[in-house]
Amino acid sequence: NGSMATTENSERKIITGEAGYVLEDVPHFSDYISDLPTYPNPLQDNPSYSVVKQHFVDVDDSVAQNIVVHQDSPRGRHFRRVGPREKVYFESDDVHACIVTCGGLCPGLNTVIREIVCGLYYMYGVHKVLGIEGGYRGFYARNTIPLTPKIVNGIHKRGGTILGTSRGGHDTSKIVDSIQDRGINQQLALVNGFKKSNMYVYQVYVLGGDGTQKGASAIFEEIRRRGLKVAVAGIPKTIDNDIPIIDKSFGFDTAVEEAQRAISAAHVEAESFENGIGVVKLMGRYSGFIAMYATIASRDVDCCLIPESPFYLEGPGGLFEYIEKRLKENGHMVIVIAEGAGQELLSEIMHTMDQQDASGNKLLQDVGLWISQKIRDHFGKKRKMTINLKYIDPTYMIRAVPSNASDNVYCTLLAHSAIHGAMAGYTGFTVGPVNGRHAYIPFYRITERQNRVVITDRMWARLLSSTNQPSFLDPKKISSPSYVLFESRRQGGFVKYEMKSMQ
Ligand code: ATP
Ligand code: MG
Repeated sequence: NGSMATTENSERKIITGEAGYVLEDVPHFSDYISDLPTYPNPLQDNPSYSVVKQHFVDVDDSVAQNIVVHQDSPRGRHFRRVGPREKVYFESDDVHACIVTCGGLCPGLNTVIREIVCGLYYMYGVHKVLGIEGGYRGFYARNTIPLTPKIVNGIHKRGGTILGTSRGGHDTSKIVDSIQDRGINQQLALVNGFKKSNMYVYQVYVLGGDGTQKGASAIFEEIRRRGLKVAVAGIPKTIDNDIPIIDKSFGFDTAVEEAQRAISAAHVEAESFENGIGVVKLMGRYSGFIAMYATIASRDVDCCLIPESPFYLEGPGGLFEYIEKRLKENGHMVIVIAEGAGQELLSEIMHTMDQQDASGNKLLQDVGLWISQKIRDHFGKKRKMTINLKYIDPTYMIRAVPSNASDNVYCTLLAHSAIHGAMAGYTGFTVGPVNGRHAYIPFYRITERQNRVVITDRMWARLLSSTNQPSFLDPKKISSPSYVLFESRRQGGFVKYEMKSMQ
């Protein structure tokens, strides 16, 4: 197309066209290896797919990021549409695939593993799939297990990841060495009885959060530098739904559903005692989506506190005043607090050293314990009221459950999209739904920002009107030190985030 212009550098491949059309493309083998042979897609002979009307996706199809458009709005930003291509860059017998899971647990990991294995096996006739155990370090620590449809059958009914996971241990060159022709291939040779010579792992499927996707991006860059025919496909995992661009992350639905059980328990406890207060802490380090959705879904919650909405305890319009009002009116109340909420209040008071986990993530202080103590102190000591506060932290119970039905379907689509993309020669991409259509998204778009609740959007307004809680946006308080600190951190790039909501 003569009107298209492509700007490319090592990180970005952006194609602009007429009327504001912008395609943020993902890398492809043909960008850095020339004259690779292609083969007909084996799906053309697959009886299950022969009835599909559009057998193969047109390579030029894209998915628009903005679905709400005005008459005069430009055509906007697009991502390449997923799906099987007519031509593939691998012969099925040559493909060696491996799967790794990194970072924290999230419902659905096993489903994605199962579907990658079964999808490769049944759609593309790829039979050599290896699981890398224990996260990134498993590549060079040589912990691997062969995966077949028989082995992964039924694993989606279990929580966790059958491969195990870890933080830290990302050593790019050691990982790529092991991919190139050492570790993994020897393992494959042993496992499958193939000849060792010239065997490469051609497809690497990486499941994990923002840190993992950054790691996958580094692996891809090294692979491109070495000119290897290895596809790196990321499947974004975050229970918090803090990944931008995509509609929502897998495991999110399950987490919201499971959170209902904790909220119900807190509600039962609170209702049964004089001045009962139930406090439930939910996941959400920087993004309060789980807390917000669980609150709206439950209707038992009187107050939801999230990182995006600063709050304060004392004085008019503060949390204590609201708690007292609810206890007077209703005799009990339930508070849901996201783990990253109020961190600016805690750090002012506690002044503890910044601690990090093995991957370099900042460790947060337990806001649930903190707020429970604050409430007990205020009402017990200061107001001399009898209160019965129960604090529930269901985090690990939620993370460990198997994914629900809708997440299972979603995980299946993610796995298939990743497989089709890798087979078609795309690499260095993540998959995910953009406005309900799955798309290939470049790594940098997934890792450069965080998706956060926008408190001036409709969804947060819906929550406020369902709980009737204060908005904590008292004009006087907006100039308070904690609010100013929060804002300055936010604006100072403390967390770069994308203004996006899920409406
Ligand atoms: P979650 O935070 O949802 O649990 P995550 O993928 O962000 O998932 P991390 O523990 O931060 O979890 O990272 C997972 C893996 O990715 C670790 O093995 C870590 O070493 C690696 N990693 C993290 N950040 C980077 C980076 N910038 N470059 C290379 N590797 C990274
Ligand atoms: Mg992370």
